Amino acid sequence: MAKCDEGYLCEVCGRAVDRMEESDLYLRYIIGEIGPHQLHAAPERHILCNPVLAQFIVCDEFASVEVEEPFSKAELDPDDVRKREDLVTRGWQRLQSVRRLGIPIAEYPLASANS
Ligand SMILES: [Zn+2]
Repeated sequence: MAKCDEGYLCEVCGRAVDRMEESDLYLRYIIGEIGPHQLHAAPERHILCNPVLAQFIVCDEFASVEVEEPFSKAELDPDDVRKREDLVTRGWQRLQSVRRLGIPIAEYPLASANS
């Protein structure tokens, strides 16, 4: 079982991150921003406690997040924003399904994450 099932504490709000589906750490792992060795070493956060990343999740199932300047995506190049939205949204959708798929953690990252 994944370590997150033990309920790691969010470094932002201090509450337990009970579910992998709400883990910023796993999301960043799936989109290729952190490696497997960092998965259990880096501090845990809720996705909603990291709005700078969460603002790029754009889909009906996720209530959109807005960020103040200077970290708002509105400040960024529209092409870069589109690419990042595509990546982070696909990562979030995958995060919602990996446990159901029953695949090993090594196969969680998106195929395109490291390209
Ligand atoms: Zn939190």
